[in-house]
Amino acid sequence: MSKIIASAAIRGSNQIALQAEQFVERVRNDKGEGVKIGFPDTAYYLPMAYALMGLEIKTLEELKPVLAHIKSLLSKEPTEKLWFPYLGATLDAGIATLLAEEIIVCLRYLYNEEPQPGCNGFFTDTILRTLGVQLVDGRMPGFAAILGAAPDNETAVKVVRDLQKRSIMVFAGSSTNGRSVIDQLAEEKVEMGWDTYIVPYGRDTISAIFPLNWAIRAAMTFGGLKAGQARKCLEYCKNRVFAFGLTLGEVDDFKYATGAGAIDMGFPIIADTDIPQILPTGICTYEHVVHEFDYDKIVPRCIEVRGVKVTVSEIDIPVSYSAAFEGERVRREDMHAEFGGKNALAFEYVRMREMDEVEDGKIEVIGPDIDTITPGSQMNLGIVVEVAGRGMQTDFESLIERQLHHFLNYAMGVLHMSQRDLLWIRLNKAAFASGFRLKHFGSIIHARIHDVYGKLVDKVQVTVLTDDAKIKEALVTARKAYNERDARIADMTDESVDEFYSCSLCQSFAPNHICVVSPERLGLCGAVNWLDGKAGYKIDPTGGNQPVLRGRTIDPVRGEWEGINEFVYQHSNRTIERMSLYSLMDAPMTSCGCFECILALVPEANGFMIVNREHPGMTPCGMNFSTLAGSCGGGNQIPGFLGVGRLYVLSQKFVSADGGLKRLVWMPKTLKDFYRERFATRANAVGVPDLLDRIADETTATSAEELVEFLTKSGHPALEMEPLM
Ligand code: SF4
Repeated sequence: MSKIIASAAIRGSNQIALQAEQFVERVRNDKGEGVKIGFPDTAYYLPMAYALMGLEIKTLEELKPVLAHIKSLLSKEPTEKLWFPYLGATLDAGIATLLAEEIIVCLRYLYNEEPQPGCNGFFTDTILRTLGVQLVDGRMPGFAAILGAAPDNETAVKVVRDLQKRSIMVFAGSSTNGRSVIDQLAEEKVEMGWDTYIVPYGRDTISAIFPLNWAIRAAMTFGGLKAGQARKCLEYCKNRVFAFGLTLGEVDDFKYATGAGAIDMGFPIIADTDIPQILPTGICTYEHVVHEFDYDKIVPRCIEVRGVKVTVSEIDIPVSYSAAFEGERVRREDMHAEFGGKNALAFEYVRMREMDEVEDGKIEVIGPDIDTITPGSQMNLGIVVEVAGRGMQTDFESLIERQLHHFLNYAMGVLHMSQRDLLWIRLNKAAFASGFRLKHFGSIIHARIHDVYGKLVDKVQVTVLTDDAKIKEALVTARKAYNERDARIADMTDESVDEFYSCSLCQSFAPNHICVVSPERLGLCGAVNWLDGKAGYKIDPTGGNQPVLRGRTIDPVRGEWEGINEFVYQHSNRTIERMSLYSLMDAPMTSCGCFECILALVPEANGFMIVNREHPGMTPCGMNFSTLAGSCGGGNQIPGFLGVGRLYVLSQKFVSADGGLKRLVWMPKTLKDFYRERFATRANAVGVPDLLDRIADETTATSAEELVEFLTKSGHPALEMEPLM
């Protein structure tokens, strides 16, 4: 606690308490002790005294215990030389201030001094309820009480507009050197009122009690708390009412005293002047007093310090946006632009950053936009999403990244498939004609991440890259992160954990599909591993990642358990009765459409081939990737065909029930190159160190006959293994 702040707050509280006492005396002389007092349209009497002291004050006489309580809370300013703990005294001074201010503004009503000209004055219970609904349904994420005046009108408007943009209700008032933000806004013709979310409460600091005694009523109205439950009412405000004070200009003793009262309620103070900061957490959720001199940053700083969860109620895009469009396809002939897929490069990457490294809402497009291309053609694309938040962890990056699939697919005319650097997006001609451009990917991602991950993420900025050099540069960082995420799980085994995790994200395209993700078998898309499933469950215990208990073992070799069968049956619309985790031939997992690769049986070779999405050519099973995907995707369970993540091949559990790695007889050369370094360890473990060279690729075989010929020459072990069929 800063001694400067403590001294000023205590000084201020003594002065305000004296004013209250003198005002009561004046009313007693003018109107007598029995005079009725109170605010208009409220059932909460003097709300602060009612909530904190349980008193139903209706007459001047009934203020006596309040005045006595105020007195008991006041203390002397800490002296120059005497040092003692003054946090408690300062917080008490804050409560004394709130009670005293409430008395003053209440008594002003007896002399028609409230509401002040052009101000709202007391917030009625009707307003309280209307605001409460908006608070509960998320239309209004927080409340700002501005005290003072900005250095100029332009800055005042900017600050208020920045708050409005985030749907934060603004209570404007108080003054600095005789000038109030209310007048600055009025001079600039800013419309004020409940409809515009800008409410002038009064031109002096004492009237800042109006928003505060509205907040304390919320604890009783919406929190179900009773009058007199002081501590609980204050805690309710801290935990449920996302308010903060923003002081503009010099902070005098009255503002410090009122600020101390706000802090008692869990509302931090952010100042634009060089006041001492109180950074440790304690009474407020995060910092208590903070200064920020940059008016471009002051509103984001307020949001950060109070932990306001910004919601974006409307996504600013020129096409419809709804879950109904998620399964929509974009055919080649309807396509305006295609990113990734076979003919272009595309990736998406969500990266956690520090708070001061992210500018919330910043959307930047680097490179040419889609109006520069011939309709129906391809472009390279990188989508880099930087997020920051007090609840954010690097473990959540890949989860949020995987959700981009949903987020972008909800836009009418956008098709999003796959993930990481295998991303494939198509945009149709109608969306382009409506005005959809690359920046709109950013608008969607910014809004949806705030909506879905508001508890974790406070800031989101999106960079959309089409400049090839920039894409190349960013891809290096993204790929490093993908590898690090994969490496985190590398040493874990299925036996080392009690539960696996499900993933149902792809049910929008394949309603019967459910991935069961274990430490040794990642999701088909290659972007969700067991740690991601666990993190997903932690973030949203009722979401798409659920723990799956194995239960009684049916067959440890095939990887079949009663618990998993039951879970899969219930979550596949009761269509899949059995699932074995380690077999391609007997009850394999279903395949959605997002798989990185497809494993397929080649009966002639007594083994399996694997083909990756990027491979355009023919394979020895007589089908290319697209035809194979069409046959086994969509949530089907087809023995001998299975969508898999690339890294599953390197797992000890890779089709272990069917003979494991030694069954692999063919893969495209690009996959060989991808595996080469890591393949050696597994090849040694299965006793065939040069296995990768004995596996055929498109340069040696594209038909079953050529494949068998190559395998015979290379001495592939599959030819000697037990028959698969
Ligand atoms: S492929 Fe599986 S793990 Fe990946 S997003 Fe789809 S359901 Fe989840």
